[in-house]
Formats: sequence, structure tokens, C-alpha cells
Amino acid sequence: NQQIILASRPDGWVTPENFSLIESELPSPGPGQVLIQNLWLSLDPYMRGRISEAKSYARGVNIGERMVGETVGQVIASNAPALKVGDTVLAAAGWQLFAAMDANAVTLIHTEAVSPSAYLGVLGMPGITAWTGLIDICQPRPGETVVVDAASGAVGSVVGQLAKLNGCRVIGIAGGPEKCRYVTQELGFDVCVDHRSTHFAKELAAAVPTGIDCLFENVGGAIFETLLTHMRVGSRIALCGMVSEFNREPHAYRTLRSILINRIRVQGFIMSDKRETWPGIRENLYALVTQGKLKFKESVTEGLANAPKAFVGLLKGENFGKQLIKLT
Ligand code: NDP
Repeated sequence: NQQIILASRPDGWVTPENFSLIESELPSPGPGQVLIQNLWLSLDPYMRGRISEAKSYARGVNIGERMVGETVGQVIASNAPALKVGDTVLAAAGWQLFAAMDANAVTLIHTEAVSPSAYLGVLGMPGITAWTGLIDICQPRPGETVVVDAASGAVGSVVGQLAKLNGCRVIGIAGGPEKCRYVTQELGFDVCVDHRSTHFAKELAAAVPTGIDCLFENVGGAIFETLLTHMRVGSRIALCGMVSEFNREPHAYRTLRSILINRIRVQGFIMSDKRETWPGIRENLYALVTQGKLKFKESVTEGLANAPKAFVGLLKGENFGKQLIKLT
């Protein structure tokens, strides 16, 4: 087996040297367990929090421990009646090629109509996050203006498409003209503003002439500060993530005056608190994907050994779409 472990804690920016690839014995499944060969590994921004010393909502990865992460794999041996050899499963198997897992800790997935990797993105934690933050927290009404940043990414791309399906005017914020073109031309957002443009503040102001009703916040930092100046009275913010602030230690907290002045309802949320809602939301997303109403894009890097480099890229915006590692 091959695994990637945390070698050292990053000081500011993460580097590939913070990780090492080790060889280990092939695990053998115990009673009630299955042996899985992982096909796909998901890389997600939350992993930056897990390797930091700072206290967070979940237990961190210790130095020398295997990196955590969601995977899609194939059952190659089974000691559990519910799963058979050849089944495709979603599991939190971590950054490794093979894993022995309790059968009741993995989810059997259906891959006739969608690719297995979709269960790590649009039909996985990112898609379910988008649904929860937009539909349950922002509660957008038809005709309202919805803004989402990291708009071409795993979460943002689903947020904007769901908002369009709900009759909203949708503005995405993304890094660079290629991502912006994808967001408007492929995903059908009304406007995309490039946050790398030197005229970002002016272009944003032109895109939201009547202000923002719903903000789905993924990025934090200077972009969030600029967006806050356009919030309407009575607007809502789903505070989902702050990927631009992850590499600052300690995390910076800035002024949130707009929230006060505009009586904005802000709701932070952590998807791992809401496990009971996942199956129902995944069914809704599955229906939209198989009806062709919800598109998704994947950024695929080959080989477990390249996972650290791809993870560093994800935190700098080098990914374009859901970042995955193809393991075989
Ligand atoms: P993405 O696929 O969107 O990838 C990350 C993107 O963030 C990059 O492609 C880049 O897009 C953008 N980005 C990175 N650094 C910066 C920066 N310094 N300034 C501006 N943009 C930056 O990731 P996900 O869709 O998986 O995650 C999006 C957000 O959702 C993250 O903040 C994540 O932590 C959060 N999240 C929260 C959950 C919860 O339970 N609350 C659950 C899941 C995700 P671009 O080049 O367009 O700027």
C-alpha cells in the first residue's frame, strides 16, 4: 500500500514538503469489513484546517499520521454481507491506495448514470454544502440577486446553477478570464467578475447595481470586504468558507460593520454537523445532474504522489473545478 502522511506543520503557505509518501503493508479486512481499492481521492480546502495547529471544529491530523479525505473506490474483498466484490463505494479512506473499512462506514453508490468521481463533487460534500447554504440558509426568492465567490469551484458552481434554477439573478466571482467564461457561458450565470482584475471593485459595483440579496461566501478576506459594501438591508449571508485566509496564522478577523448596519442575517454552517440531511439532498442533486440541469467540472491530477502538489495548487486557485486525484 502507499499512503501520504503529514510530515510537518506548514508555517503560512503549505508546501509539498509538509507531506511524505510512505509504503505500508496491504491492510487485511477484519469481520464486517471490506478491502477497498481507491480510485479517486478528493482534495478539499478544509484539509488546510486539519493540518494547522489552530483549534477548529474537528480533530486535526498529527505529524506522522495519514492525511484524511474522502475517496471513491472498488470493493476487492468483502467480509460483510451488504457489500460484494466489484461494488463502488464512497468512503473516508484518506490519502492512500488501499483501505480496510467497516462496511457500515461506507456508502454504496450508483454509477450507471453518473461518473463515480461525481460523488466527491457535485453529488458529494461540496454539492450538498451548496444546497444547504443556498436553499436552507440564504432562501433566495425569484428575481433576487445572488452572489457567490470561488464560482467555478466545486461548491460555487453548484450554488450559482441552483440559484438560476430558482429564478435568481446570479453573479459569480472567479480568478481569471477562463474561469469567468466557463461560469457565464457553460454554467449560465448572468455575470462573472474577475477578482484578479485591477478594476475589480468597479466591475463588481457595475454587476450589482441594486445590491446583493444573498451572498454565498467561500473566500473571505479582501473579496468579502468588498462584497459587504453592496449588501442590501435585510439580505442574507451563508458563511461557508474563507479559503483566502487559510494560510494566515492566526486567521485574520476584520470589520463586519455592514452586517450590523444592514441587519443582515448571517449563518455559519459546518456540513459534518448535518449528516442526516445528506441522503435527501444528494437525491435532489442526482435528479438535477441526470436531467442535465446541473453541470460540473473536474480538475484531475494523476497519482497519489502528486496529491501534495495539487493540494497546494487548490489553495492558490490553480484548480479549475473540483480537485481530484486519480489513483489508478
Ligand atoms: P474550490 O473548488 O472552489 O477551490 C478553491 C477555490 O478558491 C480556488 O479555485 C480559487 O478560485 C479560490 N481561492 C483560493 N485562494 C483564493 C484567494 N486567495 N483569493 C480568492 N480566491 C481564492 O473549493 P471548494 O468548492 O471545495 O470550497 C469552496 C469553499 O467552501 C472553501 O472556503 C471551503 O472551505 C468551503 N467549504 C465549507 C464547508 C462547510 O461545511 N462550511 C464544506 C465544504 C466547503 P478562483 O481562482 O476562482 O479565485
